[in-house]
Amino acid sequence: MCVKLYIIEDRCTQCGKCVEICHKGPLIFDIDKKEIKSMEYCNVCRLCITVCPENALKCLNE
Ligand code: SF4
Ligand code: SF4
Repeated sequence: MCVKLYIIEDRCTQCGKCVEICHKGPLIFDIDKKEIKSMEYCNVCRLCITVCPENALKCLNE
């Protein structure tokens, strides 16, 4: 069960694809800081994980 997303900083190239694909991207991702701002609007659809070309997004408690 995925309860929290996180970004592996070393892998993230700040391409922005995760923000673009997500229905609430700007509310969830802070790509400048390579951080997840809030999980409040995340429904764990996993689209961002699928689209990330660097495999930089992971779920905790998976
Ligand atoms: S899609 Fe992946 S590499 Fe691109 S900004 Fe998001 S986490 Fe970083
Ligand atoms: S899992 Fe879905 S809703 Fe959550 S941040 Fe990724 S694309 Fe957005």
